[in-house]
Amino acid sequence: MRSTLYLKFTFIYIIFGFLSIFTVATLGSELVTSHLERNVGSELYKEANLIASDYLPAYFTESLSASDVQVQLNGMRTYLDADIWFTDSAGKMIRSSQRISSVVHPLEIENFNPAEVGSSQFLLGNYHNYFQEEMITVIAPVTEGFVTRGYLLIHKPYQYIADAKVNIILIMYMVLLVIYILSFSILFGVHFFVYRPLRKITEAAKQYASGNLEHEIHINTEDEIGYLSASLNYMSSQIRDMNDYEKKFIANVSHDFRSPLTSIKGYVNAMADGTIPVEMYEKYLKIILFETERLTDLTQDLLTLNEFDTKELLLDKNNFDIHEVIRNTAASFEGTCTAKKISIELIFASKTLNVYADKRKIQQVLYNLLDNAIKFSNPDSIVSVETTERFGKIFISVKDSGIGIPKKSLNQIWERFYKTDLSRGKDKKGTGLGLAIVKEIMKAHGENINVISTEGVGSEFIFSLPAQK
Ligand code: ADP
Repeated sequence: MRSTLYLKFTFIYIIFGFLSIFTVATLGSELVTSHLERNVGSELYKEANLIASDYLPAYFTESLSASDVQVQLNGMRTYLDADIWFTDSAGKMIRSSQRISSVVHPLEIENFNPAEVGSSQFLLGNYHNYFQEEMITVIAPVTEGFVTRGYLLIHKPYQYIADAKVNIILIMYMVLLVIYILSFSILFGVHFFVYRPLRKITEAAKQYASGNLEHEIHINTEDEIGYLSASLNYMSSQIRDMNDYEKKFIANVSHDFRSPLTSIKGYVNAMADGTIPVEMYEKYLKIILFETERLTDLTQDLLTLNEFDTKELLLDKNNFDIHEVIRNTAASFEGTCTAKKISIELIFASKTLNVYADKRKIQQVLYNLLDNAIKFSNPDSIVSVETTERFGKIFISVKDSGIGIPKKSLNQIWERFYKTDLSRGKDKKGTGLGLAIVKEIMKAHGENINVISTEGVGSEFIFSLPAQK
């Protein structure tokens, strides 16, 4: 990983260097050359026109002597470091001023054509083979009284442009070198902001894969990589919680299955080997039946919860009379209530009260709540179920005056398999799954359930349902 990522970036860096040099050498050189040619050409053209219009016309009016013209041309030659030719309109040389290195000028320019420059201001080349080296040539007319009497030609060696170009390209290469060295900092940036955090994330991924979910990624930057590591940290903590939950869940399930099975096995063994005499069978068969019922309930509860977990709970919502459902559910507890001398009081403001919900699921909620209320009530007490209508919602309360729930357990009673220490002795059959199921059903309806309870005084569970549509 280290070598590949580094190699890739180094390779890109080197390619970037080569491309930069190539660009300066081709495009840069081309642009500089054309710029210099245009610049030098137009400067020479301006100079030539200035002399040709301000000074040289006087030669033709005889107010300027040939030697004066010569002095002027010599001055220009030195100033411009160029060859200066002054011809008549047919190209016959009047005066010239030559650089030392230059070849001797012709007496007359053969096939002289001042218009050959065309639309451009200058000519490139060895000007009709009069020069051995390449020159840049400008031609300016000398007019006197609206008549062109002669021409001024300036030939400057092209070498001048080539030298200037070399200097500029050299500067460009130096700037490029500095930029190239500075851009090395991008590699540092990649190292610190991408490569190092990536290595930490890869290490973390390896740790997670090997099962070490405690591993934490310490990257606190406020960028995509920081966000990614925060998400991974969150993910590992979630998986950790899930693993813990799973372990706890399996431990609870095994425990709840094991205890009834152990007692069933014990009694059956005792009956088989004659420890329990036949006349006592009835008593022990009742216990075995009780334990098998507990196992059936537990399995049923687990299946119900599993259904909630695996698929989005599909509700079969309808309008129905909640009072009727409460009455029927309460009736199913008649036997238990009579045995415990508990009476169920139904406090309804109207005969019927319609709600919009899944009837079967709400029946289960009421069953679980009433079951708990009766289970944890003291004998000779009252369990009351009351309905009220407020703000377009129906509130159903199931209230008992039983053992109550300790304050510290109030949040935990909704967890799967949770039982308060107070209730353990009283309720041997409970699975600790009833309220977890209730909570899931309320969540699926988008409604709430709350509990108010005081230890030793009693508990009240209140849930809401939407009124009929
Ligand atoms: P269980 O099947 O054991 O009743 P639940 O999930 O219905 O499981 O309830 C969880 C625990 O909450 C119970 O074991 C009990 O400790 C406590 N609890 C529930 N309802 C009541 C109540 N009405 N009075 C006192 N404690 C209650």
